[in-house]
Amino acid sequence: METVAIFDSPGKGRGLKACKELWAGDVVFSEPSLAAVVFDSLADRICHSCFRSQPKLQRCGQCKFAHYCDRTCQRAGWAEHKDECGAMKVYGKAPNESIRLAARMVWRLDKEGSLVSDTQLTTVEELENHISDMPEDDLKELKVDIHNFLDYWPRNSKQHTVDDISHIFGVVNCNGFTVSDQKGLQAVGVGLFPNLCLVNHDCWPNCTVVLNHGKYVPHLISGFHVSLQSAVNTMFHSQPRIELRALAKITEGEELTVAYVDYLNVSEVRQKLLKAQYFFDCTCEHCKNRTKDDLKMAGREVEGVKVPEEESKEASDYCFEMMEKINKSRLSGDYHEVLFEVHYSTMTQADKSIGQTFRT
Ligand SMILES: [Zn+2]
Ligand SMILES: [Zn+2]
Ligand SMILES: [Zn+2]
Repeated sequence: METVAIFDSPGKGRGLKACKELWAGDVVFSEPSLAAVVFDSLADRICHSCFRSQPKLQRCGQCKFAHYCDRTCQRAGWAEHKDECGAMKVYGKAPNESIRLAARMVWRLDKEGSLVSDTQLTTVEELENHISDMPEDDLKELKVDIHNFLDYWPRNSKQHTVDDISHIFGVVNCNGFTVSDQKGLQAVGVGLFPNLCLVNHDCWPNCTVVLNHGKYVPHLISGFHVSLQSAVNTMFHSQPRIELRALAKITEGEELTVAYVDYLNVSEVRQKLLKAQYFFDCTCEHCKNRTKDDLKMAGREVEGVKVPEEESKEASDYCFEMMEKINKSRLSGDYHEVLFEVHYSTMTQADKSIGQTFRT
């Protein structure tokens, strides 16, 4: 991949840097999952192949667990589901989502080797598992999952050591990426994207992850005057990919970062979340300087004095209005517009008139 390269990020271990200049909205790279699964609670409401939510799904006649939009999705998902389907029949039920994901990963790696594509920059073995940092309660849960995994894992599949399986669970625990449905509104599953695992955190990141369910495809196809309905169906229901997109101008050699936790949290909360889930202390500029913490706390009660109702209503109306605009642009795939709106909505009134001039 010529846009990014692995490098040693000071104090952070391995990271990814840009190998050329990038602009806001640019796709840094796009990556299919190594494996992904639908959450247990949504197993009959989300397609197990394309991760779209559909009112009516057809279920796999063999295991009666996997659900699909149609035959096209079922066929597309069969390579990933085949071993799992057989294992669930013998096991008598579907194991939980962590076990299903770990098993899908192991089957795939056993079959295709540790690098499943020539754009994959790291093997799963090389990724951190942070098992030695896990608190006692999490370790207990991990042991139960491993025990159940070994029960579920078929005798005729390649056998692995407990250490190898623990590593897979550890990697998923701190690197699993939540997959949302086609509208981006609901978290519906979890997947592992090896290159994305290499992107370090920053509370004020220069990149963001966009899940692409292939929504550009119909537009693209009409542009190329392809009229075969089956081609449209196959591509429209393709398995989701993530896209790493630049949020601002990135210079050659600059480290690429994403936010692992929501920036809307104040510094202290972000740091707690990062420590608990990802086992590190964030030392980014925004954490060091507690940037914008005061703004985020502006609506709170101070010594029993509430913010006047009119002021808080004005602020929340404005937020809703901007959120709606951002969502609309996001759904139509206009990420440059999303970026503009995000920047615009956080500007002061004086900046806004300048912003408008630039835009036109
Ligand atoms: Zn589907
Ligand atoms: Zn099945
Ligand atoms: Zn930070």
